[in-house]
Amino acid sequence: MMSRGEIADALQGLLRCSVERDRPLSGLSTLGVGGWAECYAEPTELEDFLVLRRFSHREGLPFHVVGGGSNVVFADGPIPGIVVSTRRWNAVRWLPREDRVVADVQAGHALASLVAASAKRGLTGLEFALGIPGTVGGAVVGNAGAGGRGVGDSLEEVLSAEPDGTLRRWRTGEFSCSYRRCSLSEPGRLLLSCKIVLGLAPRGEIEENMERFRSARRIQPHGGRSAGCSFKNPDGESAGRLLDRCGCKGMAVGDAVVSDSHANFILNRGRATGGDVLSLLRACRRRVFERTGVLLEPEVRFLGWLYAWDGEPAANMGNEMDEGNETARRV
Ligand SMILES: Cc1cc2nc3c(=O)[nH]c(=O)nc-3n(C[C@H](O)[C@H](O)[C@H](O)COP(=O)(O)OP(=O)(O)OC[C@H]3O[C@@H](n4cnc5c(N)ncnc54)[C@H](O)[C@@H]3O)c2cc1C
Repeated sequence: MMSRGEIADALQGLLRCSVERDRPLSGLSTLGVGGWAECYAEPTELEDFLVLRRFSHREGLPFHVVGGGSNVVFADGPIPGIVVSTRRWNAVRWLPREDRVVADVQAGHALASLVAASAKRGLTGLEFALGIPGTVGGAVVGNAGAGGRGVGDSLEEVLSAEPDGTLRRWRTGEFSCSYRRCSLSEPGRLLLSCKIVLGLAPRGEIEENMERFRSARRIQPHGGRSAGCSFKNPDGESAGRLLDRCGCKGMAVGDAVVSDSHANFILNRGRATGGDVLSLLRACRRRVFERTGVLLEPEVRFLGWLYAWDGEPAANMGNEMDEGNETARRV
């Protein structure tokens, strides 16, 4: 196995962008937790993404992608392998097509900028995404949305770098999206760009739509560091309401605390660690399970942790936390 110095040196010889060693990650997430990436890069060219993907595949290294960091909980301590940020891969082209316009967007483009630019051009279809932070790539991976709509509704085509570093174009019908889920979200797959189809509409109508979503968002906590909703809504129920009914508001582990105004938001009130957040998520999930029998699924994604959340027996949830000792092992 190559040392991290050897990995960085070997990569630097192959890439046009620079490779950083031991790059702190907490500043790259809205929650502000986590350790550091042993190898980190912010490519601006397609070829660099492909080189990184192929290299990690060939060397058997973990490969992680971060967009806007608004839905991730980074692990604490060193995260081995390669962490690639898309934030400097962010161009957009507007392609007119009969009565529509297609936005051909690179993954690192901020979703908020796309929403604003679409409205300015009199294009409808993304108003629901007003106020959702992060990148277009991250939004596709989690089918980000609000009010029953999701980015996947308008998605026509996606270009990805597959785990072996080959390029693949996915067309409508070859992928599917549902509530906070996209079938293209697979470990090791990097979404590079996508085409989003937008309709034409009068500005007033677009503004009205946006106002509706703006008011719905007023119930979310303002300010403070969070990763948005912690858990997905179970069928026919609101995760926030369940958490509230179970008395989760105000629960805390270290500096991670459940918001007083929205029980599905965990806030970092200062020096929370990834372990604090994970422990608190588990405590909330366990409490809801014990009191209601509903097993909540996390909406946030875990990056750099050794074990997956899924598949863990419910009965084991939060055992480490009882001792106040979250010792998550990492890759
Ligand atoms: C205040 C606040 C409000 C929010 N409101 C909403 C909301 O209303 N609706 C909603 O759906 N979400 C909401 N979120 C959550 C979050 O903003 C969305 O999930 C967002 O789409 C994540 O995008 P990102 O670029 O920040 O992804 P990241 O957090 O960077 O990454 C999320 C996951 O996607 C992967 N990923 C990111 N980019 C790529 C790529 N190009 N290729 C492959 N994998 C990739 C990462 O590895 C990670 O697993 C909110 C978050 C905050 C902080």
